[in-house]
Amino acid sequence: MVVRLGGYARISLDRDGEELGVDRQMADYRQMAAARPGWTVVRDYIDNDLSAYKKNVVRPEFEQLLADLKAGILDGLIAYDLDRLWRQPRDLERLIDIFEERKSLIFSTVSNDYDLSTSDGQMMARVMAAAAKKASDDTARRVARKHRELADSGKNGGGFPPFGWKADRITVDPVQAELITKAHDALLSGTRLSTITAEWQEKGIRTSRNTGKPITRVALKGILTNPRLAGFRAVKRQKHIGPDGKPVMGVWEPICTPERLDAVVAVLEGVKTQYKANNLSNNHKYLLSGILRCAECGTRMMANMRASWKEGSKGSRFMYRCPASKDGGCGKVSRAGEPLDLYIINLIHDAEARLNAPTVEPAEWPGAARFSEVEQEISELISAMNGKKISAATAIAMLEPLERERDELGYERNRHSVEQAKAAAAVVDLSEEFERLPIERQRAVVMKHIRAVVVRPAGRGARKFNPDLLEVVWAA
Ligand SMILES: [Zn+2]
Repeated sequence: MVVRLGGYARISLDRDGEELGVDRQMADYRQMAAARPGWTVVRDYIDNDLSAYKKNVVRPEFEQLLADLKAGILDGLIAYDLDRLWRQPRDLERLIDIFEERKSLIFSTVSNDYDLSTSDGQMMARVMAAAAKKASDDTARRVARKHRELADSGKNGGGFPPFGWKADRITVDPVQAELITKAHDALLSGTRLSTITAEWQEKGIRTSRNTGKPITRVALKGILTNPRLAGFRAVKRQKHIGPDGKPVMGVWEPICTPERLDAVVAVLEGVKTQYKANNLSNNHKYLLSGILRCAECGTRMMANMRASWKEGSKGSRFMYRCPASKDGGCGKVSRAGEPLDLYIINLIHDAEARLNAPTVEPAEWPGAARFSEVEQEISELISAMNGKKISAATAIAMLEPLERERDELGYERNRHSVEQAKAAAAVVDLSEEFERLPIERQRAVVMKHIRAVVVRPAGRGARKFNPDLLEVVWAA
């Protein structure tokens, strides 16, 4: 019986600082597998990951290995040691879950440390993972504590000297400080931030002596609202609160008073809120506003609620209309909103489905021909050996590479059918997913496929929605 194993190797610095190359890891586990009857490594999963404890580092091959174990494509896994496999205790838990679910899976490591397919092995692995995690947390905590001590004492952190101070980060730079003071004055008397940004850009002022980038609106806002201007020690642009619950004051000369800083922040935050509100009201609330065009005059059609519509009443809640002539349209064409939206959504749905499933028929597995060839060759070899046409030694020597190829192809074939099933499921989910998207995202999906929809007049008394009166201009 063939036991299909996934081999996992990871480039990593050992906890002792000693590196074990991937080739070594692979050679070792392959050698171990070869010694067991039927064991075949059908695929190597190799991740390059030097940061053992860094969170949110994706290990694509580890993820693939888990997926293949879950999907039943593999009968087990083999690795150099357990340390290669888990990075965070939660990786270990995910592995253990799979081995709990599929009791027949094989778990094997060259160093033969803990066997995750047994409950004793799981317990020992958890104890070990917790201990290693604690050691790393202690290091992280030491570093964080050092930063906090610096901040608590109001001392400068690292990095470039902030705008407004000299290189010692303590003495005020008179030229830069004056620029800041004047900008504060201007803001408080109603000048817009973008105007000040333009002035600074014209003067050729740069963000910092070290980076020397031209000033931007965002950079200027950061400079003018920096808590350290009023003497506050800041961590990530927020006032740092000390152990006594009060903001910590820095050891440097301030440039303005706390009250003045608060006033500037209020002005700039106010601007931001207002800007946001305007932006929101300008946003399209309807799926096809501006995408539809009047066939009579070419103007973009906009939507509005029907004044006559009430909760529970029949007909459309909103209409798309060509604007009246005073607003640049002809006002002659309008269309009920809901059926038109629905019609276009169905078109988009079909277009997306075509996009996601490039072929209508399930794609044929490209290795099928070779797979049956290999199987055929194997059975011919075996019957030749049984019929004493060739010696057993010759037959076995020829069999081994063929068997290996068959196992690798078998993995590919199973992988292929899992992908096919996934692709089929993705197409079905699409319309539901579309419904859940916010309107801006829905519009983006529509515009990915459609450049415009030309709407022809429906004629007097035409009540029923008629798709023949639409002309869809597809995106190239
Ligand atoms: Zn028109």
